[in-house]
Order: sequence, then structure tokens, then C-alpha cells
Amino acid sequence: MQLSQSISEIKNIGEQRTKKLNKLGVFTIEDLIEYFPRDYDDRSHITKISEIKLNQVNTIKGRLIAKPETMRMKSIQITKARIEDNGAILELVWFNQPYLKNTLKPKAEYMFTGKVCEKYARLQMENPDYEIIDNGELLNSGRIIPIYASTYKFSQKLFRGLIFEILKEIKGQLEEFIPDTVRKNFNLCERSFAIENIHFPKNDESFFLARKRLVFEELFLLQMRLLQLKGNIKKRKSGAVFNNLSYNEIKERFGFELTNAQKKVINEITEDFKTNTAMNRLIQGDVGSGKTAVAMTAAFIAVKNGFQCAMMAPTDVLANQHYESFKSIFEPLNINCVLLSGAQKKKEKNEIYEKIKNSQADIIIGTHAVIQDAVKFNALGLVITDEQHRFGVNQRNLLAEKGNNPHILVMTATPIPRSLALILYGDLDISIIDEMPPGRKKIDTISVNTNYRSRVYNFIIKNASEGRQSYIICPMIEEGENKELKAVIEYTQKLKDEVFYNIRVECIHGKMKSADKQEIMKEFSEGKIDVLISTTVIEVGINIPNATIMLIENAERFGLSQLHQLRGRVGRGADKSYCILISDSKNKITAQRLKVMTQTENGFEISEKDLELRGPGDFFGTRQHGIPELKIANLYKDIPILKEVQKAAQWLYSVDPDLKLDENQKLNKRIERFFEFSDYKISL
Ligand code: ADP
Ligand code: MG
Repeated sequence: MQLSQSISEIKNIGEQRTKKLNKLGVFTIEDLIEYFPRDYDDRSHITKISEIKLNQVNTIKGRLIAKPETMRMKSIQITKARIEDNGAILELVWFNQPYLKNTLKPKAEYMFTGKVCEKYARLQMENPDYEIIDNGELLNSGRIIPIYASTYKFSQKLFRGLIFEILKEIKGQLEEFIPDTVRKNFNLCERSFAIENIHFPKNDESFFLARKRLVFEELFLLQMRLLQLKGNIKKRKSGAVFNNLSYNEIKERFGFELTNAQKKVINEITEDFKTNTAMNRLIQGDVGSGKTAVAMTAAFIAVKNGFQCAMMAPTDVLANQHYESFKSIFEPLNINCVLLSGAQKKKEKNEIYEKIKNSQADIIIGTHAVIQDAVKFNALGLVITDEQHRFGVNQRNLLAEKGNNPHILVMTATPIPRSLALILYGDLDISIIDEMPPGRKKIDTISVNTNYRSRVYNFIIKNASEGRQSYIICPMIEEGENKELKAVIEYTQKLKDEVFYNIRVECIHGKMKSADKQEIMKEFSEGKIDVLISTTVIEVGINIPNATIMLIENAERFGLSQLHQLRGRVGRGADKSYCILISDSKNKITAQRLKVMTQTENGFEISEKDLELRGPGDFFGTRQHGIPELKIANLYKDIPILKEVQKAAQWLYSVDPDLKLDENQKLNKRIERFFEFSDYKISL
């Protein structure tokens, strides 16, 4: 058998089983051996019947005394058997598995694993797993056994047997591809040892060695390619050469003094502009740290040098807001801003496309509409994407292709640990705005249950009577966009009818037409609406300084970083602001999470906590960062290994960046394949 052969060529694997395995993503023999166990059961310890432990799972070894017997009690079929070891006897019972009567052979020796209970003053092992002891290798008992994530009624025993047989057959084919130097320096076991022991670990130690090796391998392939990608980007000459790097003119327009952190980041950007290669930079800055002013400064420099700047935001609402604030800063400087929005009619859009093509438009703001094929730039020199955590590597690359290697600036308010950033944003240089503009007041955050609702509503009414505004994030419901729509509309109606009859309440949700959303946001920003009820469409970026209360229903349903984003919508003006989290959840972890919110406003602390409490899967969302799916590494728990990987990759990159040396050929090929077969192609 060859690793690349289809699983259908394995004996015992017919059409049905092939189909089932395909559904698990297993197509080739290699996929099968890389279908790693999701868990293990330690059955290596065999207990004598005379020493059996009550109410615990025991593995025992003994001889079946006689043929099992099956009887019927009401609707249940009970199969009983007895086994003996060194004169001690134990009764075994199975429920509704009458066929065992004919499967289990009297006088034969077996291993049984199951929980032992006392029934009618007798010990019984219930529904034990069994395995006959013949000359073959034991796969299901007497060792640490693998447990596979297997659906479609594929039994664990079958899985184990299958993988065991295949491993024996392809043993010689498991090639080492991590260069020896790296393997020795980082104490990595050989690949064949790792694959064997991840499925059938000889003991704990070999399991840990195997897992470390495989986690390392997976992250190493990824990190190595990202380093190469970053290196190649740095080599690309940009068509956008900026000679004039002064930005006093726009600084004057801000009406505030830039913070030192903003200045530092602007400086890093202008340093990039001085080289003739394209900038590829990420700005991490907490909610409200003033990323927009930095973006405007970079845009200003691009335009002053005769180039266009495109700015992409994740939602229409945010794009629209950016458009308004860019216009107010840039128009007096005779710099033209245009908005590309989902709300525009075809004709209007075409006019804007025309302006972009002939450079009448200097700054182009929009959602991903900005990167559609119809948009042709005349001289695109800078691309900015805001709230980058919603965009992936691919979208970033699409943008880069739009011009003659424009400079790229991406911004995110979701801070993550540096080692993770090197994976998720591995192709980017990183700048951090680690300081808030002066004079920010603390946002008082409280967490209450639904009994407090009416008090909170009164607080909102009082707030409105004093001329300030509030947000209410609508209760979330389990599934289905239509249900969500219904929920927000009903909730709004109820509040209008029963609570807020003297003040103006409106709602905004994702299913609304873009133009309607913009209209509501406009009225809210003009102070014509007192209370804005919303699903999470306002989550990112919205800046309305007069809004001072953020009420979040069902707070337990949100991730911490999302709550932090939502809270960041208030506390933007001179007035004191409040964030009120409503939840009836009794869950301990939820309580812990909500408590974190009341204790800190530091986005970095919050995201670390979030990672810890939710795990990286939820935290990062599904595949949004455009990296291949990881089979074994866990981006949060494996940070220590990730750090070693980064050291190793940086070293290897420094000695052989293009992996041209003979000893690195196997690695090079493997990296190609790692990316070739993923949905995401990070190409060099
Ligand atoms: P974010 O980083 O979340 O995108 P914004 O750019 O929206 O934050 O800035 C938040 C608010 O802070 C805006 O109202 C902006 O005008 C204001 N701001 C930004 N920088 C400064 C500064 N250096 N001094 C005072 N206010 C500032
Ligand atoms: Mg912002």
C-alpha cells in the first residue's frame, strides 16, 4: 500500500465504509493515519478479579466459563456470562446485545473493560468492552487505547483495527522531513515513532513525545511558510513611492494632540514608506485608542504623494461612519473622499467607479465592495482595512493585487498574544497603540440579573431626559436569522409600547437594507433617536460620543472580546458612561467571565482571559484567519510549543530562506503539500 492510495483499496473497506470515512475527511491512506485520536483511555493496568474496585472501570483478564445466556425482562434483553481468573469469578452483563451469546467463545481467554457495580449483593461488570486473547496484538485493552472522533456508526474497534493494520503496512514509508538539526535541537522524536505512538502510545512518555513532535510539525510548516511569505513581500518593490512624508496639515485638523503611542505608530509607518518595498503592517490598538487618526494620517501622506487610498471596513454602518469623518477632515484640504456602499444604485456606483478610475476620487471607503473586480484604480498607493479580525489573509492578498503593490495597513482592536499574532498575522509587521487618549473616564460596568431590568429601563429614561443616548443590545436567540429578526422586532415593539412611550426608540439589525441602516445611524448620531436597539451590527467601530449607556441582554451569550467591543461604543465623550450586563445564567464560567468585564477595561487582559475561558476555536471564529485547519495543535494550549517553533523557523529561515539546501528539500515539498490541500492557498 502507498500513502497516496485511496482508502477504498484497503481490504475490508467497501463502498459504504469508504463513504463514511470520506465524510470524516479521510480519503487516502495518509489521511487515515493522520486522523489522530481525539482522546485516550488508559487500559494498561489489569486488575485481578480478587482485587477489583467497586464503582470504577476495571480491566480484567479471564477465561469464559460457559456459553453466555440471554433472557428477557420486560423489554430488555439481558445477556449474562461468567469469567474466572485464578479461582475468582465475576459476572458480566450486557443489555440488548443478545448476539454476544454466539460471539463470545466458552473456555476462551478474554480481556474485559467496564464498570463494576454491586447488584443484589453480587458484583457485576456492566456492558463491558471485550477482546479475545489469541496470538494477535491486543488493540482494545491491556494498553492505552485511542478513541477516535467517529460518527456514522463506525465503531472504535473497527477504527483501531484499521489504523493498526495500516500502520504496520506503511511503516517504512513515514519519511522524516524536519531537518536533523532542528529535530535534535528541539528534542523531537522521529516521524514514524510519532505517528505510531499518537495512535497506540506505549506509555505516557511516548505519547507526550509523539504529540509534541506532531504539534511542532504542524505549526512549523505553517510558521515557515508565513516567514517566507513575509520575506517575499518585503522583497517586492512597491509602485507607490512616497517622497513627501510630512503630515502637519492634517495634524492641525484633528483638534487634539496625538498621543505618544499614535505618534510612535505613525513613525513606524513613515519608516516603512521610506523603503521602496511595500508596507505590510498591522496596528493593534484597544477599542478607542484612536486608530482612525493614524489611518487618516497614512491616507493623507499617500494622497499628498499623488496616490489613492482605499479603506475597507467590515460593515456598511462602519464604512459609512468612516466616510463621514474622513470627509469632515479631508474636504477642507481639497482631498476627495467617496463611499462605495451596498445602498447605492447601479448608476451611482458606476459614477463612483469612473471617479476612481480617473483619480477624481482620492480616498475610497467601503466594505469588501472596494475589492470587487469592477473597481479599477488609477493609482492605488495605500490600502487600509479596519477591524482586521474579520478579514483573512486571502482578502488581504486580493487587495494587494489591486494596484502596483500598494502599501497595506490593517487595524484591529482585538489584541492577541504576540506568539499567536505571529501565526495569525504572520505575514505582517506589528505596531501597537498602547496608550489611550487623555481624559477618558472609566466606564462603570455592572452585571445584574433580569430582576433589575425595570430599574435599568428607568435609568435609560432618565438618561434620555438629560439629553444623552443609550444602546440596548437585543436578546440573542439560539438559531436562525429569521428568528433573530423576529426577536429584535418584537422586543423593540414591546419596549415602545410598555416602557419607553415618551422617548424615541428605533431598532437596527443585520437584515435591514443598507440604506435604512444608514438612515437610522444618521438619525442616532444627530441625536434624534434616544435609544437604539440593535443586534450586534453595531459591534465594531461605531463612534457616537453622546451615547453613554450600553445595556446588553443575555450577556452570557457573548464572548468577552465581543462584550469589550460593545462596551467600547460608550465612554467616547465627556460624560460618564455605563455598561450594564444582564444575565440570568447560573453557569460558573459565565459568572467568571462577566466578572472580568466589571473588573477591567484593558482589552489585552480581556482577550487573554477570553482565550483561556473559551479556547481558541471560538475565540478566532471559524477559519477566518485563512490558515489551514489544524489537525492536532491547539493555538492556545500549545503556545509553549509554538514559541519553540518560532525560534526554529526563524533560525532555519535565516540560514536557508528559500529552502534550497539539499537537506531541506523534503521539508520544502511537505510545506507545498500542506498548503496545496487546504482550502486556503497562501501562495508565495
Ligand atoms: P478606535 O481605535 O477604536 O478606532 P477611534 O479612532 O474611533 O478609536 O477614536 C476614538 C475617539 O477618540 C474618537 O472620538 C477620536 O476622535 C478620539 N481621539 C483619537 N485620538 C485622540 C487623541 N490623541 N486625543 C483625544 N482624542 C482622540
Ligand atoms: Mg475604529
